[in-house]
Amino acid sequence: MSDESTAKNVDPRYKRVAIIGLGLIGGSLGHAIKRGKLADHIAGYAHSEATRKRAMEIGFVDSVHPTAAEAARDADLVVLCVPVGALGQVAAEIEKSLKPGATVTDVGSVKNAVVRDVGPFIPDGVHFIPGHPIAGTEQSGPDAGFAELFDDRWCILTPIPGADRAAVAKLGAFWEACGSRVDFMEPKHHDLVLAITSHLPHLIAYNIVGTADDMETVTRSEVIKYSAGGFRDFTRLAASDPTMWRDVCLNNKDAILEMLGRFSEDLSALQRSIRWGDGDGLFELFTRTRAIRRSIIDAGQDNPAPNFGRNPTHAEPDKSDQ
Ligand code: NAP
Repeated sequence: MSDESTAKNVDPRYKRVAIIGLGLIGGSLGHAIKRGKLADHIAGYAHSEATRKRAMEIGFVDSVHPTAAEAARDADLVVLCVPVGALGQVAAEIEKSLKPGATVTDVGSVKNAVVRDVGPFIPDGVHFIPGHPIAGTEQSGPDAGFAELFDDRWCILTPIPGADRAAVAKLGAFWEACGSRVDFMEPKHHDLVLAITSHLPHLIAYNIVGTADDMETVTRSEVIKYSAGGFRDFTRLAASDPTMWRDVCLNNKDAILEMLGRFSEDLSALQRSIRWGDGDGLFELFTRTRAIRRSIIDAGQDNPAPNFGRNPTHAEPDKSDQ
C-alpha cells in the first residue's frame, strides 16, 4: 500500500457528497457514509424517477435531484456510480456545476476507459481520482445496497499523474472509513489485474451457463436439478447485471482478449491431458489450484466455512468432487 492511504490523521469526511447512480454500489456507498457519519448531506441522482424515489424511501440519500448537474452542484465529493458506458455522458452533464476544489471519483470496473471518457470533462481546479471498490454481488438496483459491502474489501484508486496528494489522501481515508482497504495502481495495470480476477471468471460463467442452456441431450430441468455438482456456483456470477458486463467487455477489450487467449491455450492443454490420460498432469494442476483457494481464505477474502459458507440448514453436503 502506498503512503498516501496510510495517512491516519487525514479527515475522511466531506461536507456534501453527491452520488450519481443509486444502485448496488451507489446505494451501498450511501449506507456506508451514513454508518460512518462521513458527510453532512448526501445528494443523489439516478435517471429513473422510480429509483430516485426508492432511494429516498430507503434513506441512503438526504435529497434527490432531477438532473445529475443539480445533484453535483456544491458537492465536495462527487461519486459516479453508473455503468461504465454512461460515465462520459454523466461527466459532460455535471461539468459546469462542479465547484472548484471538489473531488470527482467513480466506482467503474475498468479504469483506462474512464480516464479517457471522464477526464476531458473535469475542469481545472477540480480533482479527478478514478477508483474501483472490489466488492459486489449479483444483485442490482437501490434495494440491493447495504453498508457492509465494502468492509475488508480492497478499493483501488488510480490517480492520474500530477494528482493532488492531499485530495488523494482524503479520498483514500474516506474509503477506509467506509470499511475498505485502499491500494493504488496505474489504470492500465488495474485493467489487466481485473481482467484475470474478475472479467475472465464472469465470462467463463456466462459461457458455461449459456452452453448448458443450449444443450439438447441434457434437459434444462436436469441441469437445474443436479446443479449442486458445481454448476450453481457459476450461476451466481452469470446472474450479474447484463448492462454492467456488456460495458466492461466493450471497455476493457485488449486485456480481456489477452486473458481469454491465455485461458484458451490452458484449456487446450487440459483437454490434451484428459485425452492422453495424463493423470499426473491433472493431479498436479488440481493440487496447485487448491492452494490458491487456501490463500484467498487466509487473506480474508472469502469464508472458510464448508460449502462456501452456505447456510447449513439449506445446504446439501459439498459433493462437488463427484
Ligand atoms: P446498478 O445496481 O445497476 O445501478 C446503476 C445505477 O446507475 C442505477 O441507479 C441507474 O439508474 C443508474 N444509471 C444507469 N444509467 C444511467 C445514466 N445514463 N444516467 C444516470 N444514471 C444512470 O449497478 P451497480 O452494480 O451499482 O454498478 C454501478 C457501477 O459500479 C458500474 O460502473 C460498475 O462497473 C461498478 N461496480 C459494480 C460492481 C458490482 O459487483 N455490481 C462492483 C464494483 C464496481 P436507474 O435505476 O434509474 O436505471
